[in-house]
Amino acid sequence: MDFATLEKGLDGQIATWSADRSARIARLALDKADFDALARIGLTLTGVPVSHGGLWIDVAQSAAPVARLLRKLAAVDPSLALVVSMHPTVLMFWITEPNAGAPAGWKQHRDGVFEKARSGHWFGTVASEPGIGGDILATRSTAKPHAEGDWSMSGDKFMGSGSGITSFMMTIARPEGEPQPDVFLLDTRDIGWEGAEGLKMVRAWDGLGMAATQSHAFRFDDVRVARHGLQGGIFDLLPQITPVIGFMFSAVIMGILDAAEAEAKRSLGKRASRLSAFEQTSWIEAQMQIWLAQQAFEGMSRSLGTGSAGTNVLHGKLAIADLSEKALAGLSHALGGSSLSRSSPFGQWMQDVRALGYLRPPRALTHARLLEGLTAPARA
Ligand SMILES: Cc1cc2nc3c(=O)[nH]c(=O)nc-3n(C[C@H](O)[C@H](O)[C@H](O)COP(=O)(O)OP(=O)(O)OC[C@H]3O[C@@H](n4cnc5c(N)ncnc54)[C@H](O)[C@@H]3O)c2cc1C
Repeated sequence: MDFATLEKGLDGQIATWSADRSARIARLALDKADFDALARIGLTLTGVPVSHGGLWIDVAQSAAPVARLLRKLAAVDPSLALVVSMHPTVLMFWITEPNAGAPAGWKQHRDGVFEKARSGHWFGTVASEPGIGGDILATRSTAKPHAEGDWSMSGDKFMGSGSGITSFMMTIARPEGEPQPDVFLLDTRDIGWEGAEGLKMVRAWDGLGMAATQSHAFRFDDVRVARHGLQGGIFDLLPQITPVIGFMFSAVIMGILDAAEAEAKRSLGKRASRLSAFEQTSWIEAQMQIWLAQQAFEGMSRSLGTGSAGTNVLHGKLAIADLSEKALAGLSHALGGSSLSRSSPFGQWMQDVRALGYLRPPRALTHARLLEGLTAPARA
């Protein structure tokens, strides 16, 4: 399997789903059959290194091809694409390796994770918590060890996209007696949501945007989880991981812009000679915003794998979040009031693109990170 073969398989799958796009966009829940179909064509391999039978070579060579697939998928089903984007981004926490000094057992732990993804299991994350502003390092959840090597975790988590579909959920908690939080992995396969195994769904996702992502909220009470094999060392590698995450989420929103621009063009083209001056201006401005978003996306892509990726991705993701909201509003102005109809995709797309500003790192945290550049002492 290579990216070209996977892309061909995905194109075929998308072609069968395209006729159904309006119904998909109106969905409030995921369909397991979609994930089975995507796993069959090899999409779970996007989060598995080539050394383990997957497709991932490194950030510089693999992030852009994966993002292209997510972008295509988002054009036909944004919620599905956002949940799928969690898989390669979560697995970055295992793909990224320290240069030296991995603890005993790391290789075996890592091999086990990739074997599961390679065999078609989906990975997601339920790391966010209410009241920490998307800053996973500020977690209030705790974990304590068991003699058998497992851990049990307690805390409140929300917005776990793909809940009920993914086999494994990455999460974050502070190990008892340690100063720093760490990454843990929840095997969801034999765990109910009623509290019998400690996991209770406390609120079902009711998002207006990304409505079908099943991003539910859960209470964890001593839930069995596995600790990340680097035993706290993964946080030193965050500068390599976080730019990839912001880039992949941006790819999903670019896919919505692709679909919205094409659909608006098709619709406006039918009455191009009768458009009012306002409608013409709205169309031109929306196109300009989409063009700028594309430049930001390409800038992010070029910077991946370089030392400046962190700041570039923060700027790019903020820019795409703002431009996509403006562009969807502009397309709606150009199209007229019917774009608000539930039978038009534009109302749902307008809500979907709003997700980018909240996805990790959310706007407030992005601003805080960028401000560090202003307050950091100037280099001599
Ligand atoms: C569609 C969608 C899907 C998502 N999917 C996932 C997922 O699969 N997994 C996952 O883990 N998360 C997911 N998230 C959550 C996302 O990553 C952010 O964690 C979440 O949006 C932040 O929530 P909030 O803005 O309500 O922050 P809250 O924590 O509720 O804070 C609200 C506001 O308080 C302020 N604030 C609070 N604490 C701080 C602080 N420490 N520093 C600075 N400001 C602070 C900020 O202004 C913040 O905006 C998803 C979000 C969306 C919208």
